[in-house]
Amino acid sequence: MSSNIGHFIAGQVYSESTSRTGPVYNPSTGEEIARCAYGTRSTVDHAVAVATQAGQRWGRASHATRQAVIFKLRELMIANMDLLAEVIGREHGKTILDAKGELGRAIEGIEFACNAPHVTKGEYANNVGGDIDVFSVRRPIGVVGCITPFNFPIMVPAVMMTMAVAVGNSVVWKPSEKVPSAALEFARLWKEAGLPDGVFNVVQGDKEVVDAILEHPGIAGVSFVGSTGVGEYVYQKGTSHNKRVAAFTGGKNHMVVMPDADLEAAASAFVSAGYGSASQRCMAVSLLLPVGTETAERLREILIPKILALKVGPYNDAAADFGAVVSRESKASVERAIARCVEEGGDIVIDGRRIEVAGHPNGYYLGPTLFDHVTTDMQLYKEEVFGPVRGIMRPATFDEAIAITNQHEYGNGSVIFTRDGKSAHRFMMEIESGMIGVNVPVPLPSGFFNFGGLRRSKFGEGHLYGPDAARFYTKFKTVSQRWPEPDEQALPVSLAFNPSA
Ligand code: NAD
Repeated sequence: MSSNIGHFIAGQVYSESTSRTGPVYNPSTGEEIARCAYGTRSTVDHAVAVATQAGQRWGRASHATRQAVIFKLRELMIANMDLLAEVIGREHGKTILDAKGELGRAIEGIEFACNAPHVTKGEYANNVGGDIDVFSVRRPIGVVGCITPFNFPIMVPAVMMTMAVAVGNSVVWKPSEKVPSAALEFARLWKEAGLPDGVFNVVQGDKEVVDAILEHPGIAGVSFVGSTGVGEYVYQKGTSHNKRVAAFTGGKNHMVVMPDADLEAAASAFVSAGYGSASQRCMAVSLLLPVGTETAERLREILIPKILALKVGPYNDAAADFGAVVSRESKASVERAIARCVEEGGDIVIDGRRIEVAGHPNGYYLGPTLFDHVTTDMQLYKEEVFGPVRGIMRPATFDEAIAITNQHEYGNGSVIFTRDGKSAHRFMMEIESGMIGVNVPVPLPSGFFNFGGLRRSKFGEGHLYGPDAARFYTKFKTVSQRWPEPDEQALPVSLAFNPSA
């Protein structure tokens, strides 16, 4: 049964007569469940005009007024957890448990945004010379364009946009066209939380909307999360239109396991961080690097039964460990990646291609797949595969494991399992990744730390969340101020460079 999913502008669902729409699927069943409106340049123009007007008032609102809305949003997220998890699961395919985990992280980001007054406080210096005081203030940048991926329909937008709004900006958000319903639910919660109409706007759609955002003179900054090719394009085009842009992109995260590690713990961590959410996470562990043949053989033996025990099923099956991948195209592309690795000589230990999920013959399911003896010349090493295909590499030494990790073009997250502090310290110092884990499966930082990768996992400055995100969404002004005595004589003209000293 199809229904229409519209935009959200000026505090209400916004529809326009347009022939541009796209299908929305339930990956668990393969059914088309809705049609989503796709905006045009004129939809973006309208949203930016609304956001500009509403943002002027919101940017002048007191911290207390803004904080009250963010606190309320947090309460509403908790109260609506079941509904939001259902909406996410239906269009994304992830399990309800996983969707609730995503929402928990979203709430953490919202909680940190309640600190906006603290993280945007300025500096003050008294009497820098001649009774002049100097202070700095952070002001909102204006209208922020937000472009988000399918894999976290609420978490990524929430951590990104709550801080943007908390520091006084208005937003125009283009969600992924694969998961458009969560955007409307999130917009509804902002309104219920008391956010003035027009501060938070959603324009659904595809590349046409993205281009309109990147070129729009009324948009001051752009936050993007998605794949590397698109992120690089967004960064280049956005900055060429004089916007500040931060783009958080793909990952291929390595897990190094030292011979002294707790191998049972490392194997469990690899399975959970590697296959959770059908591996559709930018922080998923993709490659396992046990150091030395003996470590690799022992780890492989422990891993295989853990992976074979994973159950794949529809998002609403409480017994499923992970669900379908997001689309038919995505499933086909992951199958191609498996076939290519076989052709390239990868040792396929577990093949998930022929999985059947009872009652759901058309769902986009893939079982967990594991390759061993992956080498740096194989595509499985080079490319991010956004589906449940993971690989074991065989570095002979710790030096080789570090070299393999650092020669990859991505630098999102890297993890080491070891009982040796010195190895952990060396890993932390030498690995070129934005987020590093020691004996933890996914080094996703808490909401009050900065999140962002290195190398081609990020374009531009700023972070997705944490204190640096607040700085990205504000502009800095420095004021030099002097109040003369009422009876003071006016200073004579002086062309010296530093007359006040
Ligand atoms: P994607 O790049 O296909 O889409 C991201 C956004 O860009 C969507 O809104 C989409 O509509 C838009 N888009 C797609 N193609 C476009 C084009 N040619 N021109 C302009 N806009 C376009 O990414 P996805 O498949 O939705 O998400 C998965 C990717 O996101 C993975 O690479 C994953 O690693 C990455 N990701 C990164 C992080 C991070 O923090 N680094 C977090 C989550 C996801």
